[in-house]
Amino acid sequence: MSHILPPIGRRGLMLVMSSPSGAGKTTISRALLQRDSAISMSVSATTRAPRPGEVDGRDYYFVSVERFQRMVEAGEFLEHARVFDNYYGTPRAPVEAVLSRGGDVLFDIDWQGTQQLRQSARADLVSVFVLPPSVEELERRLHTRAQDAAEVVAKRMAKAGDEMSHWPEYDYIVVNVEVEASIASVQGILTAERLRRERQVGMHDFVTRLRGLE
Ligand code: 5GP
Repeated sequence: MSHILPPIGRRGLMLVMSSPSGAGKTTISRALLQRDSAISMSVSATTRAPRPGEVDGRDYYFVSVERFQRMVEAGEFLEHARVFDNYYGTPRAPVEAVLSRGGDVLFDIDWQGTQQLRQSARADLVSVFVLPPSVEELERRLHTRAQDAAEVVAKRMAKAGDEMSHWPEYDYIVVNVEVEASIASVQGILTAERLRRERQVGMHDFVTRLRGLE
């Protein structure tokens, strides 16, 4: 006799992670993507220049301001915002494709984008804000990343306070003291959110069969 559970239909979720630059969000999301095959990353479009090592189509779609504007006008973005001196946006079609087949999507977007998603897709949204353990540690992480010019680092530090003031708008807050512990926290959030009754859209049929009513 088999004890393997038949698949129970589940509605995909949108996991948003926001933080000031340097809080460790990228490290946490990379680990999550590697360890969990049911979640995939939303690749944003941006008008900023690629950093060394960044790959077009993997890290971002690097586009011109003109192309970005055309995409906005054509309604191709789920959300978009100006961050620092550049534009960033989430292409709509790939996200909808993943969600409709019951997969989850991970977003690395700022508070402005999160507000837009909250308005358009509250039921599917799970938002996590990642904070650094101290301002000294934030500055140290921004410097050791060493990909940005000194004035860019200074600008990002100045912006960090503004960004962090949005923490009360998020469902979950993770203070990233130790990266493995933070990864485990986000995995825990994901596990619990996937089990929410509203997301288990196949549960009605499953219980009907369990009760022998079919
Ligand atoms: P970076 O230039 O360091 O890659 O990203 C700068 C900021 O832009 C980060 O806070 C990141 O979360 C945010 N960001 C990246 N992609 C998007 C996007 O598609 N939409 C919004 N609203 N923010 C984004």
